[in-house]
Amino acid sequence: MTTHFKDTLAEMLRTVTEELNTIAVLNEESGDWVAVPVGTEVAEPDNNEAADVVEEWNERRALVAVVETDYRNIIRALEKIADNRYGVCEISGEPIEEKRLQANPAARTCIAHMNDEGTLAL
Ligand SMILES: [Zn+2]
Repeated sequence: MTTHFKDTLAEMLRTVTEELNTIAVLNEESGDWVAVPVGTEVAEPDNNEAADVVEEWNERRALVAVVETDYRNIIRALEKIADNRYGVCEISGEPIEEKRLQANPAARTCIAHMNDEGTLAL
């Protein structure tokens, strides 16, 4: 069963890493993804363009944060498979439902605690 999830997670990791590489660079030391600037190609930005650039920059950073969370959850799930700790809710310690893992192999919690997953440390 975990072999199937391992393959799916490896594929998810490839996809997410590709996506991050288009909007961010990996800081090898900290392991954090840092958003790369947008719109620097504007030659002489007027105020409206400058405002657009700021907005795009904020959107990009928000997107990097979301995708980076996926990235970390996928890596964590792969580590759990390696350590034989996969499929256990990080909040209750109960087994995570099969259908939850089918929907999201990187899930960190059972269905009862899925709304609290965001409160777990990255
Ligand atoms: Zn739980």
